[in-house]
Amino acid sequence: MTIPHIVVIGSANTDMVVKMPRLPRPGETVLGGRFFMAAGGKGANQAVAAARLGARVTFVGRLGRDMFGRQTEENLRREGIDTTYLTWDAETPSGVALIMVSEDGENSIAVAPGANGALTPADVERAESAIAGASAVVLQLEVPLDAVQRAVELAASHGVRAILNPAPAAPLPHDLLCRVDLLTPNEHEARLLSGPDGGAADGAEAAAEALLARGVRAVAMTLGRRGALVAEAGRMELVPSFKVTPVDTTGAGDAFNGALAFMWGQGHPLVEAVRYANAVAALATTVMGAQPSMPTAEKVAEFLRTG
Ligand code: ADP
Repeated sequence: MTIPHIVVIGSANTDMVVKMPRLPRPGETVLGGRFFMAAGGKGANQAVAAARLGARVTFVGRLGRDMFGRQTEENLRREGIDTTYLTWDAETPSGVALIMVSEDGENSIAVAPGANGALTPADVERAESAIAGASAVVLQLEVPLDAVQRAVELAASHGVRAILNPAPAAPLPHDLLCRVDLLTPNEHEARLLSGPDGGAADGAEAAAEALLARGVRAVAMTLGRRGALVAEAGRMELVPSFKVTPVDTTGAGDAFNGALAFMWGQGHPLVEAVRYANAVAALATTVMGAQPSMPTAEKVAEFLRTG
């Protein structure tokens, strides 16, 4: 097997989590919480997912010159990810998410995108040689749209496959939708992107049809515990999920995207790549947290063997 080279262009955050008896009301202080930090951000999560499966991964993003930025880089490197094309921002702090989780599982999240929100098309251009040699480029929407657009243009100009995970949900320009090789929305994001005025389509199949009708080349729509729907010209196929007992579905979508890039980037047929991505994502739901839950290739192979 040739080792695929995946370039992930996107966000990296530090998640600061307090687990507490209940969420505070505005103005209130609730004592008795437990604190922990975890590496996060959709871009970094997807990069880690692909790296643990055995891909060569380059992460392109922007970090603040602060403690969190340094920790983020260290963490990426520990996963074997190439950080050459990180841009260090002297003015803007690193991205941070403040997360409160109550005992009954409710949460309240404040995100300060910081340097993620300052990623520029020029930052992306500096990674052109990595993009040119990649098996696939993977993008999400936690960095500015003009940087995403530039990445898709560069990938296209070098004949490299671009995968766009349109999360968090946001309306997108038509030319971007038509230019990516594979769109990986969840059902909510698919609905938002499929209707002429947003949200018109009813049901996953209808949303996928509408996306193809709008000119999207291929869709792999994640449907939670139902699996994923693959849609491309002349084909629509539900690829069922694997049966597991989830403990935390945070990061399942990121696991799916990292795994899909790993397989599809190697040239495996889309349905086969999605089946593998379903397995990786199912495994990720059985472990707490996002990055800690990303399985290794060995773990996935064993899961696929034994179920
Ligand atoms: P997101 O969290 O981005 O909305 P989904 O909830 O659709 O994404 O989940 C992404 C993928 O994770 C699914 O396509 C599926 O493969 C897997 N998955 C999610 N929830 C479960 C579950 N309960 N059991 C098995 N697989 C799951």
